[in-house]
Amino acid sequence: MITLPEKYIPLNPDVENFLAQTHKLYIGGEWLPAQSGKTFPTIDPSTGRELTQVASAESADVDVAVTAARRAFDEGPWRNRMTAAERSKLIWRLADLIEAHGEILAQLDSLDNGKPLNTTRTDDVPLSVDHFRYYAGWPTKIEGATIPVNTPGMFNYTVREPVGVCGLIVPWNYPLLMAAWKIAPALAAGNCIILKPAEQTPLSALYLAQLFEEAGFPPGVFNVLTGFGHTTGAALTEHLRVDKIGFTGSVETAKHIIKASVSNLKRVTLELGGKSPNIIFADADIENAIVGATWAIFGNNGQSCTAGSRLYIERPIYERVLQGMADEARKIKVGPGMYTEQPDIGPVISREQLDKVLGYVDEGYAVGGQTVTGGKRMGGEYTEGYFIEPTIFTQVDDGARIAREEIFGPVVCAMPFDDPDEIVKRANATEYGLAAGVWTRDLARAHRMAAALQAGTVWINTWGDTDAASPFGGYKQSGHGREMGKEALDLYTEVKSVWINTDG
Ligand code: NAP
Ligand code: MG
Repeated sequence: MITLPEKYIPLNPDVENFLAQTHKLYIGGEWLPAQSGKTFPTIDPSTGRELTQVASAESADVDVAVTAARRAFDEGPWRNRMTAAERSKLIWRLADLIEAHGEILAQLDSLDNGKPLNTTRTDDVPLSVDHFRYYAGWPTKIEGATIPVNTPGMFNYTVREPVGVCGLIVPWNYPLLMAAWKIAPALAAGNCIILKPAEQTPLSALYLAQLFEEAGFPPGVFNVLTGFGHTTGAALTEHLRVDKIGFTGSVETAKHIIKASVSNLKRVTLELGGKSPNIIFADADIENAIVGATWAIFGNNGQSCTAGSRLYIERPIYERVLQGMADEARKIKVGPGMYTEQPDIGPVISREQLDKVLGYVDEGYAVGGQTVTGGKRMGGEYTEGYFIEPTIFTQVDDGARIAREEIFGPVVCAMPFDDPDEIVKRANATEYGLAAGVWTRDLARAHRMAAALQAGTVWINTWGDTDAASPFGGYKQSGHGREMGKEALDLYTEVKSVWINTDG
Protein backbone atom coordinates (compact mmCIF):
# COMPACT_ATOMS: atom_id res chain seq x y z
CA MET A 1 0.00 0.00 0.00
CA ILE A 2 1.47 3.36 -0.93
CA THR A 3 1.27 6.33 1.39
CA LEU A 4 0.64 9.63 -0.25
CA PRO A 5 1.45 13.03 1.25
CA GLU A 6 -1.05 14.29 3.83
CA LYS A 7 -2.15 17.24 1.75
CA TYR A 8 -3.31 14.99 -1.09
CA ILE A 9 -6.97 14.74 -1.95
CA PRO A 10 -8.22 11.38 -0.59
CA LEU A 11 -8.01 8.80 -3.33
CA ASN A 12 -11.07 7.28 -4.91
CA PRO A 13 -11.26 3.68 -3.51
CA ASP A 14 -10.98 2.24 -7.04
CA VAL A 15 -7.81 4.25 -7.60
CA GLU A 16 -6.40 3.00 -4.31
CA ASN A 17 -7.21 -0.53 -5.36
CA PHE A 18 -5.69 0.02 -8.81
CA LEU A 19 -2.44 1.32 -7.32
CA ALA A 20 -2.24 -1.68 -4.96
CA GLN A 21 -1.83 -4.02 -7.96
CA THR A 22 1.16 -4.78 -10.14
CA HIS A 23 -0.13 -4.31 -13.67
CA LYS A 24 0.08 -6.74 -16.53
CA LEU A 25 -0.11 -6.34 -20.28
CA TYR A 26 -3.51 -6.36 -21.99
CA ILE A 27 -3.27 -8.68 -24.99
CA GLY A 28 -6.06 -10.39 -26.91
CA GLY A 29 -8.56 -9.66 -24.13
CA GLU A 30 -6.35 -11.18 -21.42
CA TRP A 31 -4.03 -9.80 -18.76
CA LEU A 32 -0.59 -11.35 -19.21
CA PRO A 33 2.69 -10.71 -17.36
CA ALA A 34 5.70 -9.80 -19.49
CA GLN A 35 7.39 -13.02 -20.59
CA SER A 36 10.61 -11.89 -18.94
CA GLY A 37 8.69 -11.31 -15.69
CA LYS A 38 10.11 -7.78 -15.63
CA THR A 39 8.21 -4.82 -14.24
CA PHE A 40 9.15 -1.17 -13.78
CA PRO A 41 7.90 1.57 -11.45
CA THR A 42 5.75 4.51 -12.41
CA ILE A 43 6.56 7.60 -10.40
CA ASP A 44 4.59 10.50 -8.98
CA PRO A 45 6.55 13.51 -10.28
CA SER A 46 5.24 15.66 -7.42
CA THR A 47 7.14 13.55 -4.90
CA GLY A 48 9.54 11.35 -6.87
CA ARG A 49 7.88 8.36 -5.15
CA GLU A 50 6.79 5.12 -6.78
CA LEU A 51 3.05 4.74 -7.40
CA THR A 52 2.99 1.14 -8.56
CA GLN A 53 4.73 -1.31 -10.89
CA VAL A 54 3.75 -2.19 -14.44
CA ALA A 55 4.90 -4.95 -16.79
CA SER A 56 7.83 -4.22 -19.07
CA ALA A 57 7.03 -5.56 -22.53
CA GLU A 58 9.87 -6.72 -24.76
CA SER A 59 9.94 -7.98 -28.32
CA ALA A 60 8.51 -11.42 -27.42
CA ASP A 61 5.48 -9.72 -25.85
CA VAL A 62 5.14 -7.39 -28.82
CA ASP A 63 5.04 -10.43 -31.05
CA VAL A 64 2.22 -12.03 -29.03
CA ALA A 65 0.26 -8.76 -29.08
CA VAL A 66 0.73 -8.35 -32.82
CA THR A 67 -0.48 -11.93 -33.36
CA ALA A 68 -3.58 -11.22 -31.24
CA ALA A 69 -4.31 -7.95 -33.02
CA ARG A 70 -3.69 -9.55 -36.42
CA ARG A 71 -6.08 -12.38 -35.64
CA ALA A 72 -8.71 -9.93 -34.43
CA PHE A 73 -8.30 -7.93 -37.62
CA ASP A 74 -8.01 -10.77 -40.13
CA GLU A 75 -10.46 -13.26 -38.65
CA GLY A 76 -12.42 -11.62 -35.83
CA PRO A 77 -15.89 -10.11 -35.92
CA TRP A 78 -14.70 -6.51 -35.57
CA ARG A 79 -14.12 -5.84 -39.22
CA ASN A 80 -15.47 -8.97 -40.85
CA ARG A 81 -18.89 -9.47 -39.29
CA MET A 82 -19.89 -6.36 -37.36
CA THR A 83 -21.72 -3.60 -39.16
CA ALA A 84 -20.51 -0.03 -39.07
CA ALA A 85 -23.50 0.82 -36.88
CA GLU A 86 -22.48 -1.85 -34.37
CA ARG A 87 -18.93 -0.50 -34.23
CA SER A 88 -20.33 2.96 -33.77
CA LYS A 89 -22.44 1.83 -30.81
CA LEU A 90 -19.45 0.19 -29.12
CA ILE A 91 -17.33 3.34 -29.45
CA TRP A 92 -20.18 5.39 -27.99
CA ARG A 93 -20.52 2.89 -25.13
CA LEU A 94 -16.80 3.25 -24.44
CA ALA A 95 -17.22 7.05 -24.28
CA ASP A 96 -20.04 6.60 -21.75
CA LEU A 97 -17.84 4.33 -19.64
CA ILE A 98 -14.95 6.81 -19.74
CA GLU A 99 -17.35 9.49 -18.58
CA ALA A 100 -18.79 7.29 -15.83
CA HIS A 101 -15.28 6.41 -14.60
CA GLY A 102 -13.98 9.91 -15.23
CA GLU A 103 -12.93 10.59 -11.65
CA ILE A 104 -10.76 7.47 -11.58
CA LEU A 105 -9.08 8.33 -14.87
CA ALA A 106 -8.61 11.94 -13.76
CA GLN A 107 -6.92 10.86 -10.52
CA LEU A 108 -4.70 8.34 -12.30
CA ASP A 109 -3.49 10.94 -14.81
CA SER A 110 -2.95 13.53 -12.06
CA LEU A 111 -0.92 11.10 -9.97
CA ASP A 112 1.12 9.81 -12.90
CA ASN A 113 1.70 13.11 -14.68
CA GLY A 114 1.53 15.55 -11.73
CA LYS A 115 -0.96 17.91 -13.39
CA PRO A 116 -3.80 19.37 -11.30
CA LEU A 117 -6.84 17.21 -10.69
CA ASN A 118 -8.95 20.23 -11.65
CA THR A 119 -7.33 20.06 -15.09
CA THR A 120 -7.71 16.34 -15.64
CA ARG A 121 -11.32 16.55 -14.40
CA THR A 122 -12.32 19.47 -16.59
CA ASP A 123 -10.04 19.07 -19.63
CA ASP A 124 -8.24 15.79 -20.17
CA VAL A 125 -11.12 13.45 -19.36
CA PRO A 126 -14.07 15.37 -20.89
CA LEU A 127 -12.04 16.13 -24.02
CA SER A 128 -11.26 12.42 -24.35
CA VAL A 129 -14.97 11.61 -24.01
CA ASP A 130 -15.78 14.21 -26.68
CA HIS A 131 -13.24 12.65 -28.94
CA PHE A 132 -14.71 9.16 -28.69
CA ARG A 133 -18.23 10.54 -29.16
CA TYR A 134 -17.20 12.52 -32.25
CA TYR A 135 -15.61 9.46 -33.87
CA ALA A 136 -18.45 7.19 -32.73
CA GLY A 137 -20.49 8.99 -35.37
CA TRP A 138 -18.05 8.22 -38.19
CA PRO A 139 -18.17 4.46 -38.92
CA THR A 140 -21.49 4.85 -40.73
CA LYS A 141 -20.22 7.82 -42.74
CA ILE A 142 -16.94 6.55 -44.16
CA GLU A 143 -17.91 6.32 -47.82
CA GLY A 144 -16.33 5.67 -51.16
CA ALA A 145 -17.27 7.17 -54.52
CA THR A 146 -18.35 6.13 -57.97
CA ILE A 147 -15.97 7.50 -60.58
CA PRO A 148 -17.11 8.40 -64.12
CA VAL A 149 -14.11 6.78 -65.86
CA ASN A 150 -13.45 7.27 -69.55
CA THR A 151 -13.75 3.60 -70.59
CA PRO A 152 -17.03 2.35 -72.03
CA GLY A 153 -18.56 -0.52 -70.08
CA MET A 154 -16.38 0.01 -67.02
CA PHE A 155 -17.85 0.68 -63.63
CA ASN A 156 -15.31 2.10 -61.17
CA TYR A 157 -15.89 2.74 -57.50
CA THR A 158 -13.81 3.24 -54.36
CA VAL A 159 -14.13 1.86 -50.87
CA ARG A 160 -12.27 2.98 -47.77
CA GLU A 161 -10.89 0.10 -45.78
CA PRO A 162 -9.06 0.05 -42.46
CA VAL A 163 -5.25 -0.04 -42.63
CA GLY A 164 -4.99 -3.03 -40.30
CA VAL A 165 -2.96 -3.37 -37.11
CA CYS A 166 -1.95 0.03 -35.80
CA GLY A 167 0.78 0.59 -33.22
CA LEU A 168 -0.07 3.79 -31.40
CA ILE A 169 2.81 5.29 -29.42
CA VAL A 170 1.92 8.21 -27.18
CA PRO A 171 3.66 10.64 -24.82
CA TRP A 172 3.16 11.61 -21.19
CA ASN A 173 1.96 15.20 -21.43
CA TYR A 174 -1.76 14.36 -21.81
CA PRO A 175 -1.73 10.62 -21.22
CA LEU A 176 -5.40 9.74 -21.74
CA LEU A 177 -6.14 12.48 -24.25
CA MET A 178 -3.19 11.76 -26.57
CA ALA A 179 -4.23 8.10 -26.57
CA ALA A 180 -7.84 9.11 -27.34
CA TRP A 181 -6.73 11.28 -30.28
CA LYS A 182 -5.31 8.20 -31.97
CA ILE A 183 -7.51 5.37 -30.72
CA ALA A 184 -10.86 6.94 -31.61
CA PRO A 185 -10.28 7.52 -35.37
CA ALA A 186 -8.40 4.20 -35.64
CA LEU A 187 -11.44 2.39 -34.19
CA ALA A 188 -13.92 4.36 -36.26
CA ALA A 189 -12.14 3.20 -39.40
CA GLY A 190 -12.20 -0.43 -38.21
CA ASN A 191 -8.55 -0.99 -37.29
CA CYS A 192 -7.07 -3.06 -34.45
CA ILE A 193 -4.79 -1.32 -32.01
CA ILE A 194 -1.70 -1.88 -29.91
CA LEU A 195 -1.26 1.11 -27.63
CA LYS A 196 2.11 1.87 -26.07
CA PRO A 197 1.72 4.57 -23.45
CA ALA A 198 4.74 6.57 -22.29
CA GLU A 199 6.85 4.85 -19.64
CA GLN A 200 6.16 7.79 -17.30
CA THR A 201 2.35 7.59 -17.55
CA PRO A 202 1.05 4.08 -18.19
CA LEU A 203 -1.83 4.01 -15.69
CA SER A 204 -4.79 5.57 -17.51
CA ALA A 205 -4.08 3.42 -20.59
CA LEU A 206 -4.28 0.27 -18.44
CA TYR A 207 -7.52 1.45 -16.87
CA LEU A 208 -8.87 2.25 -20.31
CA ALA A 209 -8.24 -1.38 -21.29
CA GLN A 210 -10.59 -2.44 -18.48
CA LEU A 211 -13.24 -0.16 -19.95
CA PHE A 212 -12.76 -1.65 -23.43
CA GLU A 213 -13.42 -5.02 -21.87
CA GLU A 214 -16.49 -3.76 -20.03
CA ALA A 215 -17.83 -2.14 -23.21
CA GLY A 216 -17.67 -5.52 -24.94
CA PHE A 217 -15.09 -4.98 -27.70
CA PRO A 218 -14.02 -8.27 -29.30
CA PRO A 219 -10.70 -9.54 -27.90
CA GLY A 220 -7.60 -8.27 -29.70
CA VAL A 221 -9.19 -5.09 -31.06
CA PHE A 222 -7.45 -3.09 -28.36
CA ASN A 223 -4.22 -4.13 -26.67
CA VAL A 224 -1.94 -2.26 -24.28
CA LEU A 225 1.78 -2.84 -23.97
CA THR A 226 3.52 -0.91 -21.21
CA GLY A 227 7.26 -0.63 -21.59
CA PHE A 228 10.14 1.47 -22.80
CA GLY A 229 10.62 3.19 -26.10
CA HIS A 230 13.86 1.44 -26.95
CA THR A 231 12.32 -1.99 -26.29
CA THR A 232 8.53 -2.06 -26.68
CA GLY A 233 8.37 0.95 -28.98
CA ALA A 234 11.25 -0.15 -31.18
CA ALA A 235 9.90 -3.73 -31.50
CA LEU A 236 6.50 -2.40 -32.49
CA THR A 237 7.88 -0.03 -35.11
CA GLU A 238 10.11 -2.73 -36.63
CA HIS A 239 7.47 -5.46 -36.62
CA LEU A 240 6.68 -6.87 -40.05
CA ARG A 241 3.01 -7.53 -39.29
CA VAL A 242 2.23 -4.05 -37.97
CA ASP A 243 0.66 -2.00 -40.77
CA LYS A 244 0.90 1.45 -39.30
CA ILE A 245 2.47 3.51 -36.54
CA GLY A 246 0.75 6.59 -35.18
CA PHE A 247 3.18 8.53 -33.01
CA THR A 248 3.21 11.65 -30.87
CA GLY A 249 6.47 12.76 -29.27
CA SER A 250 9.88 14.15 -30.11
CA VAL A 251 11.45 14.69 -33.53
CA GLU A 252 14.43 12.58 -32.50
CA THR A 253 12.27 9.54 -31.72
CA ALA A 254 10.23 10.16 -34.87
CA LYS A 255 13.42 9.79 -36.93
CA HIS A 256 14.11 6.42 -35.26
CA ILE A 257 10.56 5.36 -36.06
CA ILE A 258 10.85 6.31 -39.72
CA LYS A 259 14.09 4.31 -39.97
CA ALA A 260 12.51 1.29 -38.27
CA SER A 261 9.43 1.51 -40.51
CA VAL A 262 11.46 0.62 -43.61
CA SER A 263 11.29 -3.03 -42.47
CA ASN A 264 7.89 -3.35 -44.18
CA LEU A 265 7.33 0.24 -45.33
CA LYS A 266 4.54 0.55 -42.80
CA ARG A 267 2.54 3.76 -42.80
CA VAL A 268 3.76 6.32 -40.29
CA THR A 269 1.98 9.41 -39.08
CA LEU A 270 3.67 11.80 -36.73
CA GLU A 271 2.59 14.56 -34.41
CA LEU A 272 5.77 16.16 -33.13
CA GLY A 273 6.95 19.17 -31.28
CA GLY A 274 7.19 22.84 -31.96
CA LYS A 275 8.72 26.16 -31.08
CA SER A 276 5.54 28.02 -31.76
CA PRO A 277 5.70 31.77 -32.40
CA ASN A 278 3.17 33.97 -30.64
CA ILE A 279 3.05 37.49 -32.09
CA ILE A 280 1.52 40.46 -30.28
CA PHE A 281 0.93 43.58 -32.35
CA ALA A 282 0.67 47.01 -30.75
CA ASP A 283 -2.98 47.29 -31.89
CA ALA A 284 -4.03 44.20 -29.92
CA ASP A 285 -6.37 44.11 -26.95
CA ILE A 286 -3.36 44.17 -24.69
CA GLU A 287 -4.88 42.83 -21.48
CA ASN A 288 -6.29 39.82 -23.34
CA ALA A 289 -2.98 39.28 -25.09
CA ILE A 290 -1.08 39.35 -21.79
CA VAL A 291 -3.26 36.68 -20.23
CA GLY A 292 -3.41 34.67 -23.46
CA ALA A 293 0.34 34.71 -24.02
CA THR A 294 0.99 33.78 -20.38
CA TRP A 295 -1.19 30.68 -20.59
CA ALA A 296 0.03 29.90 -24.12
CA ILE A 297 3.35 29.00 -22.54
CA PHE A 298 2.58 28.10 -18.93
CA GLY A 299 -0.57 26.04 -19.56
CA ASN A 300 0.25 22.39 -18.81
CA ASN A 301 3.56 23.71 -17.52
CA GLY A 302 4.91 24.31 -21.00
CA GLN A 303 4.67 20.58 -21.67
CA SER A 304 2.48 20.96 -24.73
CA CYS A 305 3.56 20.42 -28.29
CA THR A 306 1.86 23.74 -29.11
CA ALA A 307 3.43 25.76 -26.26
CA GLY A 308 3.77 29.41 -27.31
CA SER A 309 7.44 29.45 -26.46
CA ARG A 310 8.69 32.13 -28.86
CA LEU A 311 6.98 35.36 -28.00
CA TYR A 312 7.33 38.35 -30.34
CA ILE A 313 6.03 41.67 -29.01
CA GLU A 314 5.86 44.85 -31.08
CA ARG A 315 8.32 47.34 -29.64
CA PRO A 316 5.92 50.10 -28.46
CA ILE A 317 4.13 47.68 -26.12
CA TYR A 318 7.10 45.46 -25.28
CA GLU A 319 7.71 46.67 -21.71
CA ARG A 320 4.03 46.79 -20.84
CA VAL A 321 3.33 43.27 -22.06
CA LEU A 322 6.45 41.92 -20.39
CA GLN A 323 5.55 43.45 -17.04
CA GLY A 324 1.95 42.28 -17.37
CA MET A 325 3.07 38.74 -18.14
CA ALA A 326 5.59 38.73 -15.29
CA ASP A 327 2.78 39.76 -12.91
CA GLU A 328 0.52 37.03 -14.28
CA ALA A 329 3.29 34.42 -14.09
CA ARG A 330 4.05 35.27 -10.45
CA LYS A 331 0.39 34.65 -9.61
CA ILE A 332 0.47 31.12 -11.03
CA LYS A 333 0.24 28.54 -8.25
CA VAL A 334 2.64 25.70 -8.88
CA GLY A 335 2.28 22.54 -6.80
CA PRO A 336 1.39 18.86 -6.67
CA GLY A 337 -1.60 18.13 -8.88
CA MET A 338 -3.31 16.14 -6.13
CA TYR A 339 -3.04 18.79 -3.40
CA THR A 340 -6.31 19.66 -1.66
CA GLU A 341 -5.57 23.29 -2.38
CA GLN A 342 -5.38 22.92 -6.13
CA PRO A 343 -2.45 24.51 -7.99
CA ASP A 344 -2.71 25.97 -11.50
CA ILE A 345 0.12 23.82 -12.81
CA GLY A 346 2.11 20.86 -11.53
CA PRO A 347 5.71 19.65 -11.73
CA VAL A 348 7.53 18.72 -14.91
CA ILE A 349 7.24 15.04 -15.67
CA SER A 350 10.55 13.57 -14.53
CA ARG A 351 14.04 14.08 -13.17
CA GLU A 352 15.39 13.97 -16.77
CA GLN A 353 12.94 16.62 -17.91
CA LEU A 354 13.80 18.77 -14.88
CA ASP A 355 17.50 18.55 -15.73
CA LYS A 356 16.81 19.24 -19.39
CA VAL A 357 14.71 22.34 -18.70
CA LEU A 358 17.13 23.71 -16.07
CA GLY A 359 19.97 23.06 -18.53
CA TYR A 360 18.25 25.34 -21.04
CA VAL A 361 17.74 27.97 -18.30
CA ASP A 362 21.47 27.88 -17.43
CA GLU A 363 22.33 28.18 -21.08
CA GLY A 364 19.94 31.12 -21.42
CA TYR A 365 21.84 32.97 -18.69
CA ALA A 366 25.18 31.95 -20.17
CA VAL A 367 24.37 33.62 -23.51
CA GLY A 368 23.38 36.86 -21.82
CA GLY A 369 19.65 36.25 -21.32
CA GLN A 370 17.90 37.79 -18.33
CA THR A 371 14.82 36.56 -16.52
CA VAL A 372 12.04 38.94 -15.54
CA THR A 373 10.54 36.18 -13.42
CA GLY A 374 11.35 32.57 -12.55
CA GLY A 375 14.53 30.80 -13.54
CA LYS A 376 14.84 28.34 -10.67
CA ARG A 377 13.82 24.96 -9.38
CA MET A 378 11.41 25.31 -6.45
CA GLY A 379 12.59 24.33 -2.99
CA GLY A 380 10.91 24.15 0.41
CA GLU A 381 8.08 21.64 0.58
CA TYR A 382 8.57 21.00 -3.14
CA THR A 383 12.14 19.75 -2.96
CA GLU A 384 11.24 16.11 -3.60
CA GLY A 385 9.24 16.86 -6.75
CA TYR A 386 10.26 18.32 -10.10
CA PHE A 387 8.97 21.86 -9.77
CA ILE A 388 10.25 24.81 -11.80
CA GLU A 389 9.14 28.43 -11.52
CA PRO A 390 7.37 29.84 -14.59
CA THR A 391 10.23 31.58 -16.37
CA ILE A 392 10.31 34.51 -18.79
CA PHE A 393 13.57 35.27 -20.58
CA THR A 394 14.45 38.55 -22.29
CA GLN A 395 17.63 39.74 -24.05
CA VAL A 396 17.70 36.56 -26.09
CA ASP A 397 18.50 36.46 -29.82
CA ASP A 398 16.38 34.43 -32.25
CA GLY A 399 19.46 32.31 -32.94
CA ALA A 400 20.07 31.23 -29.31
CA ARG A 401 19.36 27.58 -28.56
CA ILE A 402 16.69 28.48 -25.99
CA ALA A 403 14.90 30.50 -28.68
CA ARG A 404 15.18 27.77 -31.32
CA GLU A 405 14.85 24.39 -29.61
CA GLU A 406 11.82 22.84 -27.98
CA ILE A 407 12.33 23.09 -24.20
CA PHE A 408 9.03 21.45 -23.24
CA GLY A 409 8.89 23.22 -19.91
CA PRO A 410 7.73 26.53 -18.39
CA VAL A 411 10.20 28.76 -20.21
CA VAL A 412 9.42 31.46 -22.77
CA CYS A 413 11.69 33.83 -24.70
CA ALA A 414 10.15 37.28 -25.12
CA MET A 415 11.62 39.25 -28.03
CA PRO A 416 10.69 42.67 -29.40
CA PHE A 417 10.06 43.41 -33.08
CA ASP A 418 9.86 46.62 -35.08
CA ASP A 419 8.85 45.72 -38.58
CA PRO A 420 5.47 43.99 -39.11
CA ASP A 421 6.69 42.60 -42.46
CA GLU A 422 9.91 41.20 -41.11
CA ILE A 423 8.15 39.39 -38.24
CA VAL A 424 6.66 36.77 -40.56
CA LYS A 425 10.15 35.79 -41.67
CA ARG A 426 11.38 35.54 -38.10
CA ALA A 427 8.33 33.54 -37.03
CA ASN A 428 8.76 31.10 -39.93
CA ALA A 429 12.52 30.72 -39.47
CA THR A 430 12.22 27.42 -37.63
CA GLU A 431 12.38 23.74 -38.48
CA TYR A 432 9.00 23.37 -36.79
CA GLY A 433 5.49 24.34 -37.91
CA LEU A 434 2.90 23.12 -35.46
CA ALA A 435 1.14 26.26 -34.27
CA ALA A 436 1.35 30.04 -34.32
CA GLY A 437 -0.56 32.86 -32.67
CA VAL A 438 -1.37 36.45 -33.58
CA TRP A 439 -2.86 39.14 -31.37
CA THR A 440 -4.28 42.12 -33.30
CA ARG A 441 -7.51 44.08 -33.73
CA ASP A 442 -6.82 44.63 -37.42
CA LEU A 443 -8.93 42.10 -39.33
CA ALA A 444 -7.01 42.42 -42.58
CA ARG A 445 -3.71 41.91 -40.79
CA ALA A 446 -5.13 38.86 -38.98
CA HIS A 447 -5.98 37.27 -42.34
CA ARG A 448 -2.63 38.20 -43.88
CA MET A 449 -0.80 36.66 -40.95
CA ALA A 450 -2.97 33.51 -40.96
CA ALA A 451 -2.05 33.03 -44.61
CA ALA A 452 1.66 33.75 -44.17
CA LEU A 453 2.49 31.69 -41.09
CA GLN A 454 3.78 28.19 -41.83
CA ALA A 455 1.94 26.21 -39.18
CA GLY A 456 -0.75 23.55 -39.00
CA THR A 457 -2.80 25.70 -36.63
CA VAL A 458 -3.01 29.49 -36.41
CA TRP A 459 -4.77 31.07 -33.47
CA ILE A 460 -5.93 34.69 -33.73
CA ASN A 461 -6.62 36.47 -30.43
CA THR A 462 -6.72 33.10 -28.68
CA TRP A 463 -4.40 30.18 -28.01
CA GLY A 464 -4.60 26.46 -27.53
CA ASP A 465 -8.12 25.73 -28.77
CA THR A 466 -8.62 22.28 -30.25
CA ASP A 467 -11.74 20.33 -31.08
CA ALA A 468 -12.36 16.74 -32.06
CA ALA A 469 -13.91 18.04 -35.30
CA SER A 470 -11.03 20.35 -36.31
CA PRO A 471 -7.83 19.01 -37.93
CA PHE A 472 -4.57 19.32 -36.04
CA GLY A 473 -0.98 18.62 -37.06
CA GLY A 474 2.29 20.04 -38.23
CA TYR A 475 4.11 21.59 -41.16
CA LYS A 476 7.82 20.86 -41.64
CA GLN A 477 9.40 18.81 -38.83
CA SER A 478 6.31 19.09 -36.65
CA GLY A 479 4.81 16.06 -38.30
CA HIS A 480 3.10 14.08 -41.04
CA GLY A 481 -0.67 13.94 -41.38
CA ARG A 482 -3.53 15.56 -39.51
CA GLU A 483 -5.24 14.21 -36.44
CA MET A 484 -8.83 14.98 -35.50
CA GLY A 485 -11.70 15.93 -37.73
CA LYS A 486 -12.44 13.97 -40.86
CA GLU A 487 -8.78 14.34 -41.88
CA ALA A 488 -7.71 11.80 -39.23
CA LEU A 489 -9.77 9.13 -41.01
CA ASP A 490 -7.43 9.45 -43.99
CA LEU A 491 -4.60 8.34 -41.70
CA TYR A 492 -6.43 5.18 -40.70
CA THR A 493 -7.91 4.08 -44.02
CA GLU A 494 -6.66 2.74 -47.34
CA VAL A 495 -8.59 3.58 -50.50
CA LYS A 496 -9.36 0.70 -52.82
CA SER A 497 -10.36 1.34 -56.42
CA VAL A 498 -12.54 -1.42 -57.93
CA TRP A 499 -13.03 -1.85 -61.72
CA ILE A 500 -15.90 -3.94 -63.03
CA ASN A 501 -16.30 -4.77 -66.68
CA THR A 502 -20.04 -4.56 -67.11
CA ASP A 503 -19.80 -5.74 -70.73
CA GLY A 504 -18.07 -8.99 -69.87
P1 NAP B 1 9.74 10.57 -26.84
O1 NAP B 1 10.99 9.80 -26.62
O2 NAP B 1 9.49 11.06 -28.19
O3 NAP B 1 8.54 9.65 -26.32
C1 NAP B 1 7.27 9.53 -26.88
C2 NAP B 1 6.87 8.06 -26.98
O4 NAP B 1 7.76 7.37 -27.87
C3 NAP B 1 6.99 7.31 -25.65
O5 NAP B 1 5.95 6.37 -25.56
C4 NAP B 1 8.34 6.66 -25.80
O6 NAP B 1 8.56 5.59 -24.92
C5 NAP B 1 8.33 6.23 -27.23
N1 NAP B 1 9.64 5.94 -27.79
C6 NAP B 1 10.86 6.38 -27.36
N2 NAP B 1 11.84 5.88 -28.13
C7 NAP B 1 11.25 5.09 -29.07
C8 NAP B 1 11.74 4.29 -30.15
N3 NAP B 1 13.03 4.21 -30.45
N4 NAP B 1 10.85 3.63 -30.91
C9 NAP B 1 9.52 3.72 -30.66
N5 NAP B 1 9.01 4.43 -29.63
C10 NAP B 1 9.86 5.12 -28.85
O7 NAP B 1 9.67 11.77 -25.84
P2 NAP B 1 10.24 11.86 -24.36
O8 NAP B 1 11.60 11.21 -24.26
O9 NAP B 1 9.21 11.38 -23.43
O10 NAP B 1 10.40 13.43 -24.24
C11 NAP B 1 11.52 14.05 -24.84
C12 NAP B 1 11.12 15.31 -25.57
O11 NAP B 1 10.16 15.02 -26.57
C13 NAP B 1 10.44 16.36 -24.72
O12 NAP B 1 11.36 17.11 -24.02
C14 NAP B 1 9.72 17.14 -25.77
O13 NAP B 1 10.57 18.06 -26.37
C15 NAP B 1 9.30 16.11 -26.77
N6 NAP B 1 7.90 15.68 -26.57
C16 NAP B 1 6.97 16.16 -27.43
C17 NAP B 1 5.65 15.78 -27.25
C18 NAP B 1 4.57 16.28 -28.15
O14 NAP B 1 3.40 16.25 -27.77
N7 NAP B 1 4.88 16.68 -29.36
C19 NAP B 1 5.28 14.94 -26.21
C20 NAP B 1 6.28 14.44 -25.37
C21 NAP B 1 7.59 14.82 -25.57
P3 NAP B 1 9.22 5.92 -23.50
O15 NAP B 1 8.17 6.58 -22.73
O16 NAP B 1 9.64 4.66 -22.93
O17 NAP B 1 10.40 6.81 -23.78
MG1 MG C 1 4.56 8.31 -13.71
